[in-house]
Amino acid sequence: MSHEPLKSTLRIVNPQIENLTRQELLALQERRLVAQVRRAYERIPFYRRLWPKEAATLSSMAQFREVIPFQSKQDLLVAQDQMMVERVASPGSQVVSVHMTSGTTGLGQESHPLTRLDVEAMGSTWMYQAHWAGLQLGDVICYTFAVGMQTGGLSSFPMADRMASRFHQTGPYPSEKKADYLLQYQPHAFIISPAYLTRMQAIFEERKLDPRVVMPQLKCIFIAGESYTIEWAQRSMAFWGVNISEWYGLMQGGLNQCFSCETGILDQGERGHLHAMEHRMLCEILRPGTNDPVEPGEEGEMVATSLFREAFPIFRFRTGDRVRRMSSPCRCGRPMMSIQAGTIARYDDMMKIRGQNLWPDAVDKLVFENAAVEEYAGLVFIDPQGRETARLSLEFRPSSGLDAEQRKRHLSALADEIQGKLNVRLDIREADYLSLPRFEFKTRRWTDERRAGRSFVKYTA
Ligand SMILES: [Zn+2]
Repeated sequence: MSHEPLKSTLRIVNPQIENLTRQELLALQERRLVAQVRRAYERIPFYRRLWPKEAATLSSMAQFREVIPFQSKQDLLVAQDQMMVERVASPGSQVVSVHMTSGTTGLGQESHPLTRLDVEAMGSTWMYQAHWAGLQLGDVICYTFAVGMQTGGLSSFPMADRMASRFHQTGPYPSEKKADYLLQYQPHAFIISPAYLTRMQAIFEERKLDPRVVMPQLKCIFIAGESYTIEWAQRSMAFWGVNISEWYGLMQGGLNQCFSCETGILDQGERGHLHAMEHRMLCEILRPGTNDPVEPGEEGEMVATSLFREAFPIFRFRTGDRVRRMSSPCRCGRPMMSIQAGTIARYDDMMKIRGQNLWPDAVDKLVFENAAVEEYAGLVFIDPQGRETARLSLEFRPSSGLDAEQRKRHLSALADEIQGKLNVRLDIREADYLSLPRFEFKTRRWTDERRAGRSFVKYTA
Protein backbone atom coordinates (compact mmCIF):
# COMPACT_ATOMS: atom_id res chain seq x y z
CA MET A 1 0.00 0.00 0.00
CA SER A 2 1.33 3.41 -0.89
CA HIS A 3 1.56 6.06 1.78
CA GLU A 4 1.79 8.98 -0.61
CA PRO A 5 1.22 12.21 1.31
CA LEU A 6 -1.95 14.06 0.43
CA LYS A 7 -0.47 17.56 0.50
CA SER A 8 -1.84 18.79 -2.82
CA THR A 9 -5.46 17.86 -2.14
CA LEU A 10 -5.76 18.96 1.48
CA ARG A 11 -8.67 21.21 2.41
CA ILE A 12 -7.20 23.26 5.24
CA VAL A 13 -9.75 25.00 7.48
CA ASN A 14 -7.35 26.71 9.88
CA PRO A 15 -3.68 26.75 8.87
CA GLN A 16 -2.71 28.14 12.28
CA ILE A 17 -3.78 24.81 13.80
CA GLU A 18 -3.44 22.28 10.99
CA ASN A 19 0.10 23.31 10.07
CA LEU A 20 1.46 23.16 13.63
CA THR A 21 4.04 20.54 14.48
CA ARG A 22 2.90 17.90 16.95
CA GLN A 23 5.01 19.53 19.69
CA GLU A 24 3.49 22.95 19.02
CA LEU A 25 -0.02 21.51 19.12
CA LEU A 26 0.64 19.75 22.43
CA ALA A 27 2.09 22.97 23.90
CA LEU A 28 -1.04 24.90 22.85
CA GLN A 29 -3.22 22.17 24.32
CA GLU A 30 -1.35 22.30 27.62
CA ARG A 31 -1.70 26.09 27.88
CA ARG A 32 -5.45 25.87 27.28
CA LEU A 33 -5.84 22.99 29.72
CA VAL A 34 -4.04 24.85 32.52
CA ALA A 35 -6.21 27.93 31.97
CA GLN A 36 -9.40 25.87 31.92
CA VAL A 37 -8.57 24.05 35.18
CA ARG A 38 -7.67 27.26 37.02
CA ARG A 39 -10.82 28.97 35.82
CA ALA A 40 -13.03 26.05 36.89
CA TYR A 41 -11.39 25.94 40.33
CA GLU A 42 -11.91 29.65 40.80
CA ARG A 43 -15.55 29.72 39.68
CA ILE A 44 -17.13 26.37 40.48
CA PRO A 45 -17.87 25.31 44.09
CA PHE A 46 -18.20 21.66 43.06
CA TYR A 47 -14.59 21.52 41.81
CA ARG A 48 -13.21 23.43 44.80
CA ARG A 49 -14.61 20.70 47.03
CA LEU A 50 -13.53 17.84 44.76
CA TRP A 51 -10.00 18.91 43.79
CA PRO A 52 -6.86 19.49 45.86
CA LYS A 53 -5.64 23.08 46.28
CA GLU A 54 -2.87 22.58 43.70
CA ALA A 55 -5.56 22.87 41.02
CA ALA A 56 -5.66 26.63 41.65
CA THR A 57 -2.06 26.99 40.47
CA LEU A 58 -1.88 24.03 38.06
CA SER A 59 1.01 24.45 35.65
CA SER A 60 1.40 21.34 33.47
CA MET A 61 -0.24 18.38 31.78
CA ALA A 62 1.74 16.02 34.01
CA GLN A 63 0.40 17.72 37.12
CA PHE A 64 -3.13 17.60 35.68
CA ARG A 65 -2.85 13.82 35.33
CA GLU A 66 -1.62 13.57 38.88
CA VAL A 67 -4.13 15.73 40.74
CA ILE A 68 -7.37 15.87 38.74
CA PRO A 69 -9.63 12.84 39.35
CA PHE A 70 -11.76 11.09 36.74
CA GLN A 71 -15.47 11.84 36.45
CA SER A 72 -18.15 9.31 35.60
CA LYS A 73 -21.65 9.68 34.26
CA GLN A 74 -22.98 9.05 37.76
CA ASP A 75 -20.95 12.04 39.01
CA LEU A 76 -22.66 14.25 36.45
CA LEU A 77 -26.12 13.01 37.36
CA VAL A 78 -25.78 13.88 41.04
CA ALA A 79 -27.72 16.94 42.22
CA GLN A 80 -28.92 18.05 38.80
CA ASP A 81 -31.32 20.48 40.48
CA GLN A 82 -28.35 22.26 42.07
CA MET A 83 -26.43 22.38 38.84
CA MET A 84 -26.85 26.06 38.04
CA VAL A 85 -25.49 26.98 41.48
CA GLU A 86 -22.90 24.31 42.03
CA ARG A 87 -21.53 23.42 38.64
CA VAL A 88 -21.87 26.32 36.24
CA ALA A 89 -19.00 28.75 35.69
CA SER A 90 -21.00 31.45 33.90
CA PRO A 91 -23.89 33.57 35.20
CA GLY A 92 -27.27 31.98 34.49
CA SER A 93 -28.20 34.88 32.23
CA GLN A 94 -25.41 33.88 29.85
CA VAL A 95 -26.76 30.35 29.41
CA VAL A 96 -28.52 30.31 26.05
CA SER A 97 -29.28 26.62 25.64
CA VAL A 98 -29.42 23.37 27.57
CA HIS A 99 -28.66 20.12 25.75
CA MET A 100 -29.55 16.70 27.10
CA THR A 101 -27.63 13.48 26.63
CA SER A 102 -29.47 10.66 24.89
CA GLY A 103 -29.86 8.38 27.89
CA THR A 104 -28.74 5.28 26.02
CA THR A 105 -26.93 3.87 29.04
CA GLY A 106 -30.20 3.70 31.00
CA LEU A 107 -28.63 5.61 33.90
CA GLY A 108 -30.43 8.87 33.16
CA GLN A 109 -30.14 11.96 31.03
CA GLU A 110 -27.71 14.72 31.93
CA SER A 111 -28.42 18.39 31.30
CA HIS A 112 -25.62 20.48 29.84
CA PRO A 113 -25.97 24.27 30.00
CA LEU A 114 -24.24 26.17 27.20
CA THR A 115 -23.29 29.80 26.63
CA ARG A 116 -23.27 31.45 23.24
CA LEU A 117 -19.55 30.75 22.99
CA ASP A 118 -20.13 27.06 23.79
CA VAL A 119 -22.69 26.81 20.99
CA GLU A 120 -20.35 28.66 18.65
CA ALA A 121 -17.50 26.26 19.52
CA MET A 122 -19.74 23.29 18.63
CA GLY A 123 -20.42 24.72 15.21
CA SER A 124 -16.92 25.90 14.39
CA THR A 125 -15.40 22.57 15.47
CA TRP A 126 -17.81 20.46 13.46
CA MET A 127 -17.09 22.65 10.47
CA TYR A 128 -13.67 21.00 10.18
CA GLN A 129 -15.30 17.72 9.24
CA ALA A 130 -17.63 19.36 6.74
CA HIS A 131 -14.76 21.12 4.95
CA TRP A 132 -12.42 18.16 5.07
CA ALA A 133 -15.18 16.05 3.50
CA GLY A 134 -15.46 18.49 0.62
CA LEU A 135 -18.49 20.62 1.55
CA GLN A 136 -18.44 24.29 0.72
CA LEU A 137 -20.26 27.24 2.22
CA GLY A 138 -23.88 27.23 1.15
CA ASP A 139 -24.08 23.50 0.44
CA VAL A 140 -27.34 21.71 1.26
CA ILE A 141 -27.41 19.20 4.15
CA CYS A 142 -30.11 16.74 5.27
CA TYR A 143 -30.06 15.64 8.86
CA THR A 144 -31.87 12.34 9.49
CA PHE A 145 -31.58 12.00 13.28
CA ALA A 146 -34.52 13.16 15.39
CA VAL A 147 -34.02 16.54 17.02
CA GLY A 148 -35.54 17.08 20.43
CA MET A 149 -33.75 18.33 23.50
CA GLN A 150 -30.87 15.99 22.81
CA THR A 151 -27.51 17.28 21.81
CA GLY A 152 -27.18 14.84 18.90
CA GLY A 153 -29.62 16.93 16.92
CA LEU A 154 -29.20 20.34 18.49
CA SER A 155 -25.45 20.46 17.90
CA SER A 156 -26.03 20.13 14.16
CA PHE A 157 -27.65 23.58 13.94
CA PRO A 158 -24.53 25.63 14.78
CA MET A 159 -22.53 23.59 12.25
CA ALA A 160 -25.12 24.21 9.54
CA ASP A 161 -25.14 27.86 10.53
CA ARG A 162 -21.35 28.15 10.20
CA MET A 163 -21.54 26.42 6.83
CA ALA A 164 -24.28 28.83 5.71
CA SER A 165 -26.08 25.65 4.78
CA ARG A 166 -29.64 25.10 3.72
CA PHE A 167 -30.42 22.56 6.38
CA HIS A 168 -33.28 20.06 6.24
CA GLN A 169 -34.30 18.30 9.42
CA THR A 170 -35.88 15.08 8.19
CA GLY A 171 -35.57 13.30 11.55
CA PRO A 172 -39.23 13.27 12.57
CA TYR A 173 -40.42 11.54 9.39
CA PRO A 174 -40.69 7.83 8.52
CA SER A 175 -37.95 6.30 6.37
CA GLU A 176 -39.88 6.36 3.10
CA LYS A 177 -40.57 10.06 3.59
CA LYS A 178 -36.92 10.71 4.44
CA ALA A 179 -35.97 9.08 1.13
CA ASP A 180 -38.50 11.34 -0.65
CA TYR A 181 -36.88 14.38 0.95
CA LEU A 182 -33.41 13.29 -0.13
CA LEU A 183 -34.69 13.20 -3.69
CA GLN A 184 -36.64 16.42 -3.38
CA TYR A 185 -33.99 18.56 -1.70
CA GLN A 186 -30.91 17.12 -3.44
CA PRO A 187 -28.46 17.59 -0.55
CA HIS A 188 -24.70 17.79 -1.02
CA ALA A 189 -24.41 15.71 2.15
CA PHE A 190 -26.64 13.86 4.55
CA ILE A 191 -26.04 12.84 8.14
CA ILE A 192 -27.12 9.36 9.21
CA SER A 193 -26.21 6.30 11.32
CA PRO A 194 -24.59 3.31 9.55
CA ALA A 195 -27.56 0.99 10.23
CA TYR A 196 -29.94 3.61 8.94
CA LEU A 197 -27.85 4.14 5.82
CA THR A 198 -28.34 0.43 5.13
CA ARG A 199 -32.10 0.95 5.47
CA MET A 200 -31.99 3.94 3.13
CA GLN A 201 -30.06 1.88 0.59
CA ALA A 202 -32.76 -0.82 0.75
CA ILE A 203 -35.45 1.78 0.04
CA PHE A 204 -33.53 3.12 -2.97
CA GLU A 205 -33.02 -0.45 -4.21
CA GLU A 206 -36.73 -1.24 -3.84
CA ARG A 207 -37.54 1.84 -5.90
CA LYS A 208 -34.83 0.87 -8.39
CA LEU A 209 -33.09 4.21 -7.92
CA ASP A 210 -29.36 4.66 -8.42
CA PRO A 211 -28.17 7.53 -6.19
CA ARG A 212 -25.31 8.25 -8.59
CA VAL A 213 -27.97 9.16 -11.15
CA VAL A 214 -30.82 10.57 -9.08
CA MET A 215 -28.67 12.49 -6.54
CA PRO A 216 -25.95 13.95 -8.77
CA GLN A 217 -25.07 16.74 -6.30
CA LEU A 218 -24.22 14.41 -3.43
CA LYS A 219 -20.60 14.88 -2.27
CA CYS A 220 -20.41 12.99 0.99
CA ILE A 221 -22.29 11.08 3.70
CA PHE A 222 -21.60 11.71 7.40
CA ILE A 223 -22.01 8.85 9.87
CA ALA A 224 -21.62 8.26 13.60
CA GLY A 225 -22.99 6.16 16.40
CA GLU A 226 -21.85 2.60 15.73
CA SER A 227 -19.08 0.40 14.41
CA TYR A 228 -19.18 -1.25 10.98
CA THR A 229 -17.18 -3.62 8.84
CA ILE A 230 -14.79 -2.68 6.04
CA GLU A 231 -17.05 -4.63 3.64
CA TRP A 232 -20.04 -2.53 4.73
CA ALA A 233 -18.06 0.64 4.07
CA GLN A 234 -16.99 -0.53 0.62
CA ARG A 235 -20.51 -1.62 -0.34
CA SER A 236 -22.07 1.63 0.91
CA MET A 237 -19.57 3.89 -0.85
CA ALA A 238 -20.00 1.94 -4.09
CA PHE A 239 -23.80 2.19 -3.87
CA TRP A 240 -23.98 5.91 -3.05
CA GLY A 241 -21.02 6.77 -5.25
CA VAL A 242 -19.43 9.12 -2.70
CA ASN A 243 -16.96 9.09 0.16
CA ILE A 244 -18.19 8.52 3.74
CA SER A 245 -16.91 10.63 6.63
CA GLU A 246 -17.28 9.61 10.29
CA TRP A 247 -17.29 11.64 13.48
CA TYR A 248 -17.03 10.77 17.14
CA GLY A 249 -18.29 13.10 19.80
CA LEU A 250 -19.96 13.25 23.15
CA MET A 251 -21.92 15.86 24.99
CA GLN A 252 -19.67 15.68 27.99
CA GLY A 253 -16.86 16.87 25.75
CA GLY A 254 -19.05 19.75 24.61
CA LEU A 255 -18.38 19.19 20.94
CA ASN A 256 -17.73 16.55 18.35
CA GLN A 257 -14.12 15.77 18.80
CA CYS A 258 -12.75 13.31 16.22
CA PHE A 259 -13.30 13.52 12.47
CA SER A 260 -12.41 11.79 9.22
CA CYS A 261 -10.20 13.90 6.98
CA GLU A 262 -10.16 13.98 3.17
CA THR A 263 -9.38 10.25 3.02
CA GLY A 264 -12.72 9.28 4.63
CA ILE A 265 -13.49 6.13 6.59
CA LEU A 266 -11.37 3.92 4.34
CA ASP A 267 -7.96 4.87 3.08
CA GLN A 268 -6.68 2.59 0.34
CA GLY A 269 -8.87 -0.26 1.58
CA GLU A 270 -7.89 0.03 5.25
CA ARG A 271 -9.74 1.69 8.10
CA GLY A 272 -9.21 5.44 8.10
CA HIS A 273 -8.23 7.97 10.74
CA LEU A 274 -10.52 10.07 12.92
CA HIS A 275 -8.45 13.10 13.88
CA ALA A 276 -8.84 14.38 17.44
CA MET A 277 -9.47 18.10 17.72
CA GLU A 278 -6.67 18.43 20.20
CA HIS A 279 -6.63 22.22 20.20
CA ARG A 280 -10.12 22.05 21.73
CA MET A 281 -10.10 18.73 23.55
CA LEU A 282 -7.79 16.58 25.58
CA CYS A 283 -8.43 13.01 24.45
CA GLU A 284 -6.73 10.59 26.82
CA ILE A 285 -6.95 6.95 25.75
CA LEU A 286 -6.34 4.81 28.80
CA ARG A 287 -5.87 1.11 29.41
CA PRO A 288 -8.80 -0.28 31.40
CA GLY A 289 -7.58 -1.40 34.79
CA THR A 290 -4.28 0.48 34.96
CA ASN A 291 -5.34 3.85 33.48
CA ASP A 292 -1.98 4.14 31.70
CA PRO A 293 -2.04 5.84 28.30
CA VAL A 294 -2.21 3.26 25.50
CA GLU A 295 0.53 2.87 22.92
CA PRO A 296 -0.19 3.59 19.24
CA GLY A 297 -2.14 0.66 17.77
CA GLU A 298 -3.66 -0.27 21.12
CA GLU A 299 -7.27 -0.08 22.36
CA GLY A 300 -8.38 1.81 25.43
CA GLU A 301 -11.11 3.93 26.98
CA MET A 302 -11.61 7.48 25.72
CA VAL A 303 -11.36 9.95 28.60
CA ALA A 304 -12.41 13.42 27.52
CA THR A 305 -11.62 16.91 28.77
CA SER A 306 -12.97 19.89 26.93
CA LEU A 307 -10.71 22.92 26.67
CA PHE A 308 -13.57 24.99 25.29
CA ARG A 309 -16.53 24.90 27.60
CA GLU A 310 -17.49 28.10 29.24
CA ALA A 311 -20.65 27.25 31.21
CA PHE A 312 -20.17 23.66 32.26
CA PRO A 313 -16.54 22.54 32.01
CA ILE A 314 -15.97 18.83 32.46
CA PHE A 315 -12.65 17.19 33.17
CA ARG A 316 -11.43 13.65 32.61
CA PHE A 317 -14.84 12.24 31.78
CA ARG A 318 -14.77 8.46 31.51
CA THR A 319 -16.79 7.82 28.37
CA GLY A 320 -16.90 4.02 28.56
CA ASP A 321 -16.13 4.13 24.83
CA ARG A 322 -13.57 1.70 23.48
CA VAL A 323 -11.39 3.29 20.81
CA ARG A 324 -8.22 2.21 19.04
CA ARG A 325 -5.35 4.65 18.70
CA MET A 326 -3.94 4.54 15.17
CA SER A 327 -0.50 3.06 14.92
CA SER A 328 0.84 5.25 12.14
CA PRO A 329 0.22 8.86 11.11
CA CYS A 330 -2.41 9.70 8.51
CA ARG A 331 -1.32 10.56 4.97
CA CYS A 332 -2.81 14.04 5.38
CA GLY A 333 0.08 14.90 7.69
CA ARG A 334 -2.01 16.83 10.22
CA PRO A 335 -0.48 17.04 13.68
CA MET A 336 -3.44 15.56 15.61
CA MET A 337 -3.49 12.13 17.19
CA SER A 338 -6.07 9.89 15.54
CA ILE A 339 -8.31 6.95 16.39
CA GLN A 340 -9.51 4.22 14.07
CA ALA A 341 -12.69 4.74 12.05
CA GLY A 342 -15.41 2.13 12.29
CA THR A 343 -14.38 0.36 15.48
CA ILE A 344 -15.67 2.53 18.32
CA ALA A 345 -17.71 0.47 20.80
CA ARG A 346 -18.84 0.73 24.39
CA TYR A 347 -17.16 -1.29 27.09
CA ASP A 348 -20.54 -1.99 28.67
CA ASP A 349 -21.70 -3.51 25.37
CA MET A 350 -19.44 -6.48 26.02
CA MET A 351 -21.57 -9.41 27.17
CA LYS A 352 -20.50 -12.44 29.05
CA ILE A 353 -22.39 -15.48 27.78
CA ARG A 354 -21.68 -18.80 29.46
CA GLY A 355 -18.33 -17.44 30.56
CA GLN A 356 -17.27 -16.17 27.12
CA ASN A 357 -16.81 -12.49 26.30
CA LEU A 358 -18.93 -11.51 23.33
CA TRP A 359 -18.54 -8.11 21.61
CA PRO A 360 -21.48 -7.03 19.42
CA ASP A 361 -19.11 -5.66 16.77
CA ALA A 362 -17.47 -9.09 16.41
CA VAL A 363 -20.91 -10.57 15.68
CA ASP A 364 -21.68 -7.67 13.30
CA LYS A 365 -18.58 -8.49 11.33
CA LEU A 366 -19.57 -12.12 10.77
CA VAL A 367 -23.27 -11.46 10.19
CA PHE A 368 -22.80 -8.62 7.70
CA GLU A 369 -20.04 -10.35 5.74
CA ASN A 370 -22.90 -11.69 3.64
CA ALA A 371 -24.52 -8.86 1.69
CA ALA A 372 -27.84 -10.77 1.65
CA VAL A 373 -28.37 -9.87 5.31
CA GLU A 374 -29.90 -6.48 6.01
CA GLU A 375 -30.37 -6.36 9.77
CA TYR A 376 -30.28 -8.49 12.87
CA ALA A 377 -31.19 -8.33 16.55
CA GLY A 378 -29.67 -10.28 19.41
CA LEU A 379 -31.39 -11.30 22.62
CA VAL A 380 -29.67 -12.71 25.69
CA PHE A 381 -31.90 -14.33 28.28
CA ILE A 382 -32.10 -17.08 30.86
CA ASP A 383 -34.18 -19.98 29.54
CA PRO A 384 -36.69 -21.94 31.69
CA GLN A 385 -33.92 -24.42 32.53
CA GLY A 386 -31.79 -21.57 33.87
CA ARG A 387 -29.27 -21.57 31.01
CA GLU A 388 -27.88 -18.38 29.51
CA THR A 389 -29.13 -18.30 25.94
CA ALA A 390 -28.30 -15.98 23.06
CA ARG A 391 -30.70 -15.77 20.14
CA LEU A 392 -30.12 -13.96 16.88
CA SER A 393 -33.02 -12.92 14.63
CA LEU A 394 -31.92 -12.01 11.17
CA GLU A 395 -33.58 -10.29 8.22
CA PHE A 396 -32.60 -10.97 4.63
CA ARG A 397 -32.83 -8.30 1.96
CA PRO A 398 -35.80 -8.95 -0.35
CA SER A 399 -33.40 -8.23 -3.23
CA SER A 400 -31.03 -11.03 -2.15
CA GLY A 401 -32.88 -13.56 -4.31
CA LEU A 402 -32.18 -16.44 -1.89
CA ASP A 403 -34.86 -19.14 -1.63
CA ALA A 404 -36.05 -20.58 1.71
CA GLU A 405 -33.64 -23.50 1.55
CA GLN A 406 -30.63 -21.27 0.83
CA ARG A 407 -31.57 -18.92 3.68
CA LYS A 408 -31.86 -21.87 6.07
CA ARG A 409 -28.43 -23.15 5.03
CA HIS A 410 -26.97 -19.69 5.52
CA LEU A 411 -28.33 -19.46 9.09
CA SER A 412 -26.87 -22.80 10.03
CA ALA A 413 -23.47 -22.00 8.47
CA LEU A 414 -23.43 -18.66 10.27
CA ALA A 415 -24.12 -20.32 13.65
CA ASP A 416 -21.18 -22.67 13.01
CA GLU A 417 -18.89 -19.85 11.97
CA ILE A 418 -19.75 -17.73 15.03
CA GLN A 419 -19.20 -20.71 17.30
CA GLY A 420 -15.87 -21.45 15.63
CA LYS A 421 -14.59 -17.88 15.82
CA LEU A 422 -16.24 -16.45 18.95
CA ASN A 423 -16.75 -19.60 21.05
CA VAL A 424 -20.44 -18.91 21.64
CA ARG A 425 -23.26 -20.98 20.15
CA LEU A 426 -26.10 -18.71 19.04
CA ASP A 427 -29.62 -19.82 18.24
CA ILE A 428 -30.12 -18.10 14.85
CA ARG A 429 -33.54 -17.65 13.25
CA GLU A 430 -34.93 -15.77 10.30
CA ALA A 431 -37.17 -12.76 11.01
CA ASP A 432 -39.75 -11.22 8.67
CA TYR A 433 -38.48 -8.30 6.63
CA LEU A 434 -38.74 -4.98 8.56
CA SER A 435 -39.89 -6.75 11.74
CA LEU A 436 -36.69 -5.84 13.62
CA PRO A 437 -35.99 -2.39 15.10
CA ARG A 438 -33.78 0.11 13.29
CA PHE A 439 -32.03 2.85 15.17
CA GLU A 440 -31.73 6.45 14.32
CA PHE A 441 -28.66 7.00 16.47
CA LYS A 442 -26.50 4.89 18.75
CA THR A 443 -27.50 1.57 17.33
CA ARG A 444 -28.02 -1.16 19.91
CA ARG A 445 -28.82 -4.46 18.26
CA TRP A 446 -28.58 -6.48 21.45
CA THR A 447 -31.05 -6.75 24.30
CA ASP A 448 -29.65 -8.36 27.39
CA GLU A 449 -32.58 -9.32 29.58
CA ARG A 450 -30.13 -9.90 32.39
CA ARG A 451 -29.62 -6.12 32.40
CA ALA A 452 -32.83 -4.11 32.62
CA GLY A 453 -33.50 -0.43 32.19
CA ARG A 454 -31.66 0.52 29.00
CA SER A 455 -33.69 2.52 26.56
CA PHE A 456 -32.76 3.55 23.05
CA VAL A 457 -33.88 5.97 20.42
CA LYS A 458 -35.57 3.97 17.69
CA TYR A 459 -36.96 5.30 14.46
CA THR A 460 -40.25 4.56 12.84
CA ALA A 461 -39.72 2.20 9.92
ZN1 LIG B 1 -5.88 12.58 7.85
